[in-house]
Amino acid sequence: MLERSNELNAWDRDHFFHPSTHMGMHARGETPTRVIGSGEGAYITDIDGRTSLDAFAGLYCVNVGYGRQKIADAIANQATNLAYYHAYVGHGTEASIRLSKMIIDRAPKGMSRVYFGLSGSDANETNIKLIWYYNNILGRPEKKKIISRWRGYHGSGVMTGSLTGLELFHNAFDLPRAPILHTEAPYYFRRPDRLMNEEQFSQYCADKLEEMILAEGPDTVAAFIGEPILGTGGIVPPPKGYWQKIQAVLDKYDILLVADEVVTGFGRLGTMFGSDHYGMEPGLITIAKGLTSAYAPLSGTIVSDKVWHVLVQGSDQMGAIGHGWTYSAHPICAAAGIANLELIDELDLVNNAGDTGAYFRGELAKALGSHKHVGDVRGDGLMAAVEFVEDKDDRKFFDTSRKIGPQIAAALLERGVIGRAMPQGDILGFATAALPDPRGSGHRR
Ligand code: PLP
Repeated sequence: MLERSNELNAWDRDHFFHPSTHMGMHARGETPTRVIGSGEGAYITDIDGRTSLDAFAGLYCVNVGYGRQKIADAIANQATNLAYYHAYVGHGTEASIRLSKMIIDRAPKGMSRVYFGLSGSDANETNIKLIWYYNNILGRPEKKKIISRWRGYHGSGVMTGSLTGLELFHNAFDLPRAPILHTEAPYYFRRPDRLMNEEQFSQYCADKLEEMILAEGPDTVAAFIGEPILGTGGIVPPPKGYWQKIQAVLDKYDILLVADEVVTGFGRLGTMFGSDHYGMEPGLITIAKGLTSAYAPLSGTIVSDKVWHVLVQGSDQMGAIGHGWTYSAHPICAAAGIANLELIDELDLVNNAGDTGAYFRGELAKALGSHKHVGDVRGDGLMAAVEFVEDKDDRKFFDTSRKIGPQIAAALLERGVIGRAMPQGDILGFATAALPDPRGSGHRR
């Protein structure tokens, strides 16, 4: 076993270009390599036999937990019967059609169709193109700018990396690109004036947004994109009244809301969608991760009735829409999605995420809230974060070069638990699978 492990480690360092990894340190062997061999419930085991509680569910995506036989069978059956057929020019498979219906049945009201992709990034690329197409069809060629938020995360492509509001994803990549703009993050703990209460800070964020829209010209602003709760930017729930105030500004200037529900869709907040949870009224919704619990790569753009009608008008004027991926609605991924959504219903995992999440966040606050270096314990549903500070009273943050967050995540891992050091700030994030029994007994269903 050791020999196999050593060999894989050597090949890994020599040949594998890992995403979001310090390339030099990894290649030189200065950072640990971990080869994961199996998973069961909320636990993963590496090929050296070390088991860890995966309290981040992969990348907040393995919502139903590892090792679900039902999903594995659905994938195998679909691969045997029909591994692939495309979805162009009106073609489909039973799996992709059934899954579309299941998604719309679960979606917030007013949603009409699903366009499938493979990743959250490509689904947001689709959104950008649809937003531009929509405004061209409506005869508003100037209305093209998209406002995102600092600390938002919407992907790693050229345009979606531009939507993302994190330095790491911009620096040295010549991003962000026009016509993407960024406004204030709804980060209550880091609000500019500590005397503001939550409602006041929400109003401040809405005012900042309106100022930007007015400065740019409302006729040039097409859409606003946001995660219901900021994820990779630090697991930050919106302050009280935030989405209502933002929605009012968007409605005033006829600006579409895109709810990026890649993390929150299908139960993570204890509701099927974060849009319902916070009372958002999106024109487009991005979905991915929890759609298949990452058993197969699948994403989607859910299009509202309002947008759909305009898109139909577009193809009546111009012919078939010039937007397609070879693997859109891939039947194997769709089969995984159906089995996954069935499991979520059968095991009542949406309610379980709400209950377990509330318990977990309560215990986290009890255990850590009064520690002198814990500035904030926050979250919603099954998403939680602990933010570390050098000085609590002055809200003084640690110098980033000390890498306090990554050190704490590494110490936690040594104790058998995977939390995620979020990329900007000393923040430890949690987003575990929604399991009635985290040990996984009985999960092979
Ligand atoms: N949107 C959100 C909210 C995400 O959290 C992510 C990934 O974490 C993405 C989009 C991008 O998804 P992917 O990594 O599948 O491209």
